[in-house]
Amino acid sequence: MPFTSATAAVPFQSGSAPAWYRFRHGSFECTVASDGPITLRPPTALVPSAPQAEVERLLSAAFLPTDSLTLDQNALVVNTGEKVVLFDTGFGVDRSITRDAGRLLGRLRASGIDPASVDIVAITHGHLDHAGGLVDERGRPNFPNARVAMGAADYDFWTDLSKTSNGGWVGGFVRGARRNFKPYRDRLIPLGDRTEIAPGVTAISTSGHTVGHHVFVVESEGRSLWVTGDLAHHHVLSLRRPEWVDAFDTDTAAGAAKRREVFGQLARERQTVLAYHFPFPGIGHVTAEGEGFGWNPARLTTVL
Ligand SMILES: [Zn+2]
Repeated sequence: MPFTSATAAVPFQSGSAPAWYRFRHGSFECTVASDGPITLRPPTALVPSAPQAEVERLLSAAFLPTDSLTLDQNALVVNTGEKVVLFDTGFGVDRSITRDAGRLLGRLRASGIDPASVDIVAITHGHLDHAGGLVDERGRPNFPNARVAMGAADYDFWTDLSKTSNGGWVGGFVRGARRNFKPYRDRLIPLGDRTEIAPGVTAISTSGHTVGHHVFVVESEGRSLWVTGDLAHHHVLSLRRPEWVDAFDTDTAAGAAKRREVFGQLARERQTVLAYHFPFPGIGHVTAEGEGFGWNPARLTTVL
């Protein structure tokens, strides 16, 4: 019979490990805080046209379950010394996709970061798992002193009410985006290609996953950290087979092409990557591997 906390000789500790992580990037202090995981079941919910046997082979070879995918939500905070920039915000109060998310604010506070200290919230794209944490359950801003930087095309797309008639998750995401962007609409920073949003933080246009998707490059003391948003969802399936159709890409052909292009560049240049949905805290490097890419998690620092 398995022991429980009540029957164990020494009661089990409850609660999870601290789901935030801090590291240095040049002279910047960086913190990754998890909004909590998303589970997709079955894996073809992400890659609907992929051959089932090949999906199972890749997952099994990586010691992962073959009946579901777990996507983390790694929100990065960069304190440059002058500005505090948060990249993406998790699902917030929305529970339509997962009940495990919505933990970002608590984890920021646990890490010592006051949401009111955030100057800029940089949104890679308008999907609800990235923009859903901008407001609380009553629609009030969670980051009262922040401006919101995002692609203008994404803002227009994901606040377009006509898209709610499509049904499915797209309509829900549009309603969620309208709610989340509303209190920030007078303090938006519209992104174009190579827009510098803070000293050392530059947006690069990478449309495909969505019409206005951006990645961000954080540069300090000659080192670059690439915040790649949803260029890839899963550290095995999306990288090993970047050409597979991704169910959440607005333009599946453009999404696949951009995924291969940018990760090809990051592999060649040996850049450091912060991937939003990869296993927490999502920091590592990509290398060319087979027909696609492999993921190499970074060693975590235990002393700053
Ligand atoms: Zn996402």
